[in-house]
This record gives sequence, C-alpha cells and structure tokens, in this order.
Amino acid sequence: MNFIETRGNDGSHPLTVTFSEAILSPIASFGGLYVPETLPQLGREFLEKHQHSHYKELARDFLHVFDIDIDQSVIEEALACYDTFDDPKNPVPVIQVKEDLYVSELYHGPTRAFKDMALQPFGTVLSAIAKARNENYLILAATSGDTGPAALETFKNRENVKVACMYPAHGTSDVQRLQMVTEEAPNLKVIGIQGNFDDAQSALKNLLASSRFNAALKAKNVALSAANSVNFGRIIFQIIYHIHNYLELVRQGAVVLGEKVYLNVPSGNFGNVLGGFYAMQMGLPVEKLVIASNENNILTRFIHTGIYDMRESELILTTSPAMDILKSSNVERVLYALFGAERTRELMHDLDTQKVYRLRDAELEKLQTFFSADYCSDDEGKAYIKQAFKTGYLMDPHTATCFKTYETCKEKDLVMIAYSTAEWTKFSPTIANALTGEEDVQDRVALASISKEANVAIPPMIEALFSKKIVHTDSIAKESIEAEILAFL
Ligand SMILES: *Cc1c(COP(=O)(O)O)cnc(C)c1O
Repeated sequence: MNFIETRGNDGSHPLTVTFSEAILSPIASFGGLYVPETLPQLGREFLEKHQHSHYKELARDFLHVFDIDIDQSVIEEALACYDTFDDPKNPVPVIQVKEDLYVSELYHGPTRAFKDMALQPFGTVLSAIAKARNENYLILAATSGDTGPAALETFKNRENVKVACMYPAHGTSDVQRLQMVTEEAPNLKVIGIQGNFDDAQSALKNLLASSRFNAALKAKNVALSAANSVNFGRIIFQIIYHIHNYLELVRQGAVVLGEKVYLNVPSGNFGNVLGGFYAMQMGLPVEKLVIASNENNILTRFIHTGIYDMRESELILTTSPAMDILKSSNVERVLYALFGAERTRELMHDLDTQKVYRLRDAELEKLQTFFSADYCSDDEGKAYIKQAFKTGYLMDPHTATCFKTYETCKEKDLVMIAYSTAEWTKFSPTIANALTGEEDVQDRVALASISKEANVAIPPMIEALFSKKIVHTDSIAKESIEAEILAFL
C-alpha cells in the first residue's frame, strides 16, 4: 500500500510514499496529509472470518490486508501492547447501556484514555523504523492533557526517538499532570508552560518555524516527526476497533451480520471518527457516523451548513477539554476522500487564508450521507452523567456528549455504538460535581468520593501517581523553551 497527498503534489515531494515514510514525515505537499492510495475492501468474508477472533487476531489480519511495509515481527511486538490492557483477550469491552445503545470503552490501557489505543502500538512501530534506518527522531507534542501522557508512556526508553512534551502548567487535571511529570526515562522531557493550551501550542509552532532550532536539530542529526493524529500511523490503529465493536455486537446478538449500525463519536481532532469513516468505506455496515461535540461546535455547524467557519470562533474552555478544538485536522482526509485533491487544496487554502471554507450544495449533500452531528453543553453533559449513573453506568464528560447525540441524531431504529474515550478517573472533579454536587475539589478528593459513591476501585496506576516521585519540575516561560529542548537533546 502506498500513500498519496490530500492537496496534490508540489513537485518537491515524491508522488507516492510508503507507510513508513508517511509516518516518519507526516506533512505532505502544500501542508497536506498522507492518505492511502486506495482503501482495501474487507467484504463480508472478512467479517465472517473474524466473528470469533480476539482483538489481536483481527488487528493482525487487518494490517495484513492493508499491506504496509512493516516487518511481521514489529507488528507482533506492536500488537503485544494490548496484552497490558485490563483484559488482554478483550481490550475494548462493549457494554450495553440502553436497549439500542452500546458503549465501546476505549480507555482500558495504561493511561486510562483512548489515546493508548493507537499510540501504544504506534510507539513500537515508529521506534522500529527509525532504528532500522539508523535515524534519530524528535517528537514535539503540545498537550491539553491526554496525548501527552499516552505519548510519554509509549515512547519511554525506546531507541532512536526522543519526546519533548509541553503542557499548560496550570491547565490540566492533577491526574494528567502527574502522569506526565512522574514519567522517568532519559529520552523524555516534560515542560510545563506558563500559560494556557493555546500558549503551549503556539510555543510548539514557533519552534517548528524557528530556523535556528531547525539548524541545531540538523547539526545534531535529529529529524522531527509527529505523534498527533495527523500521523497516519495512529489512524490505521483507529480503524480496527470500529470493526471489533461491530463484531462484538454480532457476538452479543445485538445485530445480525450485515445489519447497519450508527457510530457515535465524541470528536476533537477527528481521528477517532475518521477511523470509523474508513471502516465504513472499507465495507463495515454503518448507517451513519454521528459526531458529538462540546460547545466548541464548529463541526456541528459544518455538517449542518457545509461552512467550516473559524472567523468568529473563540475557543471555549469546557469540561471535556480533549474536544476543545477549532481546527479539526482530520476533516481534510474526508474532504479528500469525497471531493478529491484539487478541491481539497482549494478548500484548505480558503481556510488558511480566510479562516473559512464553503462546500457546494451537492458536496454538502454527499457529506450528509455519511455524517450527522450535534453538540452538548457542560450542563447537559453533567445531567447525562447523573442520569446514566442512576441506571448503573459511570462515564466521563467526553463520553457524555454522545448521550446528547444519541437523542438527537438517531433517525432510524438501529443500534448505536457510542465511544467512551476516557475513564472516570481522568476527569473526576467534573464527575463528582455531577454526582454529588461537590464543587472545585482536587482530583484526589473527587476520586475518593466517586469510588465510594459508585463502589468502584481506583485503578492501581492512578492511585500510584500520588506517591510517585516527580521527575520533571520545569515550569518555564515560553521564551526559554528552545534553549531548554536543545539542552535536552
Ligand atoms: C483525544 C480525545 C478525544 C477526541 O478524539 P479525536 O480523535 O481527536 O477526535 C475525545 N475524548 C478524549 C478523552 C480524548 O482524549
């Protein structure tokens, strides 16, 4: 399988690249992204064949069908990451919460958020390719809380890859911060930035644009890569669990093979739902992909009107911070799949220069055959958390947004799979507030009160954070970041 570019080719990039090349250098011509040249068709046989497969068997065969240039031994090592999940045989439990609503829990890995699903295997693959080529890579990450811990966890002590991770010093939950600052390995650097997530992100952008920084990297023989979901190396692992979930429904007798379902995904940068889109295009029986957002509702407006408009939008800080995003990078891959490279380049150019683009009527109609969308306010989310808890299901504020779209976006009488992207332990103050009304408590207090209220144990890796040694103590001004990272390298 080769990869091509969403915005066409500028003559200075190769016309096609391998999977390895696409993940080592994920930015393509004109600032575009890499996408597979064709999507293999799974067909009914593939689903039938895997009706009773374990997650890893399914994943192995899926990657085989995709035909990527990664050695089988590396793939095996990558998939072994799922053995560290709560239940190695079933790393992604699918739980029935209403007659026609099932929740796919994507958070049973080491950092208790869905980022592990893809970053865990991705870490093995990236490090193996870098090592085979005898090259060294630096991953720069700016995180609002979930990508940072998952990236550090997967890359710690890996060869040929270093990670420098920036987070807003006072902008994450206690658990998220502790997950980062207690992660000890010589190839990891964690920096608290004085400012908010936007400051962390703009610090990262400045670094990437700095010719002094890039020259220094070159002199040290280090290349830059990326671990965010513009990297197809993450997306590929995010197609698999959508297929697994469907087969789980078949196994549980909720659908018969071939019957269509809704996939209902809490979305930020659009990686998760893009995986569902690709699964659908590869033949998974999906009625529609439902996009759930928080009050940063740019995607809802886009799906309803065909206008992606960032002009008037200011980022709103919500209780589902992993979805506080205005520019959802992976939408571009959908534009490419539906409208081709030339049109994608045109639309993305409009977004870059005018902060807005508009689909034509026929284009919007096509988009709406795949997607529907709605958004959920913090107060609504809190009410859904409380309501679900009363009927026996404990969930986090990101997952809660899907309970709104379950009510507003399901037009047909079909089963819906909602995605749970974080464990309750990661956003405990919001959940405690929803359940007991207590306000502004620290994570430690909230964890204890939810544990008592819901009669669930705090998982050991979360409990242990509070007594672990803090190894990264830097909290620095934006101006000092460049020197700090170069010193680390
Ligand atoms: C990253 C994240 C999301 C958003 O996923 P995308 O793939 O970026 O759309 C939602 N919820 C949680 C908890 C996350 O960490």
